[in-house]
Amino acid sequence: MSYTHHEVLNPATGQVIETVPATTAAEVDAAVARAAEAQQGWAAAAPADRARQLRRFAAVVDEHLEELARLEVREAGHTIGNARWEAGNVRDLLDFAAGGVERLNGRQIPVAGGLDITILEPLGVIGVIAPWNFPMPIAAWGTAPALAAGNAVLLKPAETTPLTALRLAELALEAGLPEHLFQVLPGAGDVTGNALVEHPGVAKIVFTGSTRVGKQIMAKSADRLKRVTLELGGKSPNIVFADSDLEAAVAATPMSFLDNSGQDCCARSRVLVQRSVYDRFLELLTPGIESVVVGDPFDEKTQMGPLISQAQLERVRGYAPEELKGIRGTAPEGPGFWFPPTVLTGLDPDAPAACEEVFGPVAVVLPFEDEADAIRLANATEYGLSGSIWTRDVGRAIRVSRAVAAGNLSVNSHSSVRYWTPFGGYKQSGVGRELGPDALTAFTETKNVFISTEA
Ligand code: NAD
Repeated sequence: MSYTHHEVLNPATGQVIETVPATTAAEVDAAVARAAEAQQGWAAAAPADRARQLRRFAAVVDEHLEELARLEVREAGHTIGNARWEAGNVRDLLDFAAGGVERLNGRQIPVAGGLDITILEPLGVIGVIAPWNFPMPIAAWGTAPALAAGNAVLLKPAETTPLTALRLAELALEAGLPEHLFQVLPGAGDVTGNALVEHPGVAKIVFTGSTRVGKQIMAKSADRLKRVTLELGGKSPNIVFADSDLEAAVAATPMSFLDNSGQDCCARSRVLVQRSVYDRFLELLTPGIESVVVGDPFDEKTQMGPLISQAQLERVRGYAPEELKGIRGTAPEGPGFWFPPTVLTGLDPDAPAACEEVFGPVAVVLPFEDEADAIRLANATEYGLSGSIWTRDVGRAIRVSRAVAAGNLSVNSHSSVRYWTPFGGYKQSGVGRELGPDALTAFTETKNVFISTEA
């Protein structure tokens, strides 16, 4: 969709909070040229200087943490506690990436008649296309390691959430990063985002968003053999065995799919429960769902805020109409994009809500018979991003972790994203990995040089 300006709404009220100009394809072109020039100087700078500048950027983000968090609450409806974590995650990622600049080592490989070395060179200009569900952290997952590896970054934030990204670009300049090295280009996906994908001067695209758009980006990138990292959708299982600490498994279930109002690619939205404890699980879960505090995201006590937009609200409603059986919590009435915490029961495993990514505060609970049945059900999805396994049997925890085809699993926990461990999906959930010890390497080409000692 083409437009010259985009209205940014506060999802808790539905009110316009700001109007942001959209970047045209011609402006993307000019931004790529400026970025390419800035990248030359950046790549040539001493590693210690690049590291120091990124640390300074991290420090400036830290000084503005509360401001960034409050901006995120306003444009994305995140709870203030989550938003503070998100701004802190940007700071931590910049520090982590800065630590890698001086450790981006090549290798020396034994050969006869000379010396063979590998050099990790920056790719050039990187296009980061970010979604609206975690605007700050996901932007930083691509941006921080790309900059650290000596690249320039052009970041296209989602249409609904450009404000924190624009502020981060200002803070980068305040921290002393070279002009044009990190530019934020708000605009429509199929105009501004597409211009980055099609631009010959952009060496790699890092995309997080829907599987549908991810496939289009990969197909277009194939034409130029442009590098891509894709973080796409998920429909992650939360597998609860009868031999688990059931109370602990139940207690952790609500926020495992309600955090960020369920707009999380790692949301554990398919709860698989062993049949022998299925009724007990639901009985214990009911008060946990009914008592989730949904409301003003600025209120420190709030656990869940609104959905991002009217469109997302309607999409979620379509998956969980009132007539479906289950457990439902409460949500505010009136303006804003609110949907209550919802657990659907009695659905077929192939019902849309049980196998498609809802991206809202909706989970389904399905019973399973034994370990083999749990693995079969867990893998009966086109996605493979994350998942959780609740059991006290260590052997079973390891067997099931090996058998579930997903990139990020947790045992007796729902954690999955840490900036210092790798993150990414199997199957339709993505291509490539972000974060972790190899985060910088994903933004480099390996060059092998043989130097003869015979001449
Ligand atoms: P989307 O994939 O359309 O948008 C993600 C980003 O890609 C945005 O910045 C968007 O502007 C950009 N984009 C869109 N079309 C593009 C194109 N043709 N070329 C280049 N860039 C383009 O996602 P959405 O419409 O915001 O959300 C739809 C659904 O996608 C959600 O309901 C959810 O299921 C899924 N989603 C998943 C994640 C995730 O973290 N995996 C994030 C956001 C959305």
